[in-house]
Amino acid sequence: MTEYGTQPLPGLPRAVTICEVGPRDGLQNESAQVETGVKVEFIDRLADAGLTLIEATSVVHPKWVPQLADAEEVLRRIGPRPGVRHPVLVPNQRGLRRALDLGVTDIAVFASATESFAKANLNRTVAESLEMFAPVVGRAREAGMGVRGYLSMCWGDPWEGYVAPAQVVAVATRLIALGCTELSLGDTIGVATAGQVHALLDALTAAGLPIGALAVHFHDTYGQGLANTLTALRYGVTTVDTSAGGLGGCPFAKSATGNLATEDLVWQLNGLGIHTGVDLDKLVDTSTWLADRLRRPSRSAVVRALSNN
Ligand code: MG
Repeated sequence: MTEYGTQPLPGLPRAVTICEVGPRDGLQNESAQVETGVKVEFIDRLADAGLTLIEATSVVHPKWVPQLADAEEVLRRIGPRPGVRHPVLVPNQRGLRRALDLGVTDIAVFASATESFAKANLNRTVAESLEMFAPVVGRAREAGMGVRGYLSMCWGDPWEGYVAPAQVVAVATRLIALGCTELSLGDTIGVATAGQVHALLDALTAAGLPIGALAVHFHDTYGQGLANTLTALRYGVTTVDTSAGGLGGCPFAKSATGNLATEDLVWQLNGLGIHTGVDLDKLVDTSTWLADRLRRPSRSAVVRALSNN
């Protein structure tokens, strides 16, 4: 690959942890069914490319998410890998028991900042969903697990429009109080702009939430993913969720494109001299390989620019 140089920018972290969400958040929201063997190879190739935090699957009931019905087989086949964590999305106590039996070390729970999305996605109010998560998070922490709390619709919601920071702060504070070790702030429909990202981080830190416990999860629907990420990095966030090749979408917002692409973020961070540990060539190869299996080109600008086809 051609080298175009590196120039740091003041006020940014030296290293960023990428939480790769392609195998779960990404594939769950793709219409194509992917064979178990392809999922296992995908996860292994992501680790080979240097990703150390790879959301592997979800142990949600197959009736709700048929794309991930093979969760147990995927987890058995990837096995533990030194230096790599594979968080698994767990919806309830039954899911947690399955995760514990399978030797999972890190889980994630999926909450909403808005009542409309909680109702649509979890068929519960925000308060009821937090009640459901409380014993899951408590038990997981007792078992020594790391627990990510996903918080969806942090800036905008397809039914409610603009989401005020105070509303997000209320749910975020509860999730941390329950014992979540990290909160991933999701712009699930990709509508946020940089000033709003800054304002929410201001509100969360003013409420006493530690910046080190906050991750960001942007979608590129309106082309704001990188600008929003850079804003969060300048604020002190050092964990960013992305999906290889920009996989994914949002079933409740048809126009929503995928997550910010991992390759697009790595290109930006490489140019800024920020360490990620990711080998961009290997990652682009992986996304190109997967795009062939999904029978559609990758949405990532960097994958398209660097792949040979
Ligand atoms: Mg997402």
